[in-house]
Amino acid sequence: MNRRKFLSYVGCGCCGYILNSCTTAPITERKQLKIISESKLNAQAAQIYEKVKEKEKLSKDKKTLDEIKEIGKKIENSIAEYFYRSKLDDPTVNFNWEYISIDNKKVRNAWCMPGGKIAVYSGILDVTKNKNGLAAVMGHEIAHAVAKHSVERASRGVLINTGTQIVDILSGGKLSQINRTTGMNTVGLLSQIGIMNPFNRKQESEADYLGMIFSSLSGYDIRETVKIWERMKEFNKGKAQPEFMSTHPSAENRIKKINEWTNKIVLEYPPINI
Ligand SMILES: [Zn+2]
Repeated sequence: MNRRKFLSYVGCGCCGYILNSCTTAPITERKQLKIISESKLNAQAAQIYEKVKEKEKLSKDKKTLDEIKEIGKKIENSIAEYFYRSKLDDPTVNFNWEYISIDNKKVRNAWCMPGGKIAVYSGILDVTKNKNGLAAVMGHEIAHAVAKHSVERASRGVLINTGTQIVDILSGGKLSQINRTTGMNTVGLLSQIGIMNPFNRKQESEADYLGMIFSSLSGYDIRETVKIWERMKEFNKGKAQPEFMSTHPSAENRIKKINEWTNKIVLEYPPINI
């Protein structure tokens, strides 16, 4: 038995034989339960993404969209190359990457749906400030998708809710409040795929860590990461708006961890030149 096979036997012990659905997150190797099919979730996300494109005001700022696509392409390639060189399965193999930029200054947010459908709202550009900042935010959002956090959350939802609901949907009151404060008319749509619902703390921390790795592999300066979180904290002072930070709790703790990881990631995950 070769070593890899041995490891995979050992690694499968977590869920026994009843549910053959326990896997691990890429790189961090955190155990995950996945009983919802990824392809089903990706297909659903792709449909919702099309509706978002129809309903939202897409930005006419071509320069920014080009920058978003350039950063995205570098991250896409670096992830694929990293897993190829490490002789590991590429978690993005079924992704159909796509990028839009939404013109809404009130929304300081960005997201990546399962399967690699990405949106950046113009409001977050005040926080990201530069290419490295934008790469940090995109790296984080892409990491949620790469680590299949939505699949994991939906799977847990199925166990709790006896299988009828794919993902939690925000309450009507919360939806209309977000709609009022931001002018987003796709909040209901997005919550169907879990985009407006916060991830849990472990997933957030994992997205921070993996996001920094992906940005670093792509050649971006990850020392900017901690700076965007500090700027975000400033922006959010005294506001109760549903923004990037508010769905991403415990700012102080996250900043501390990012600082601890930065040098290690710079050394261990240098740019992967393709
Ligand atoms: Zn996040």
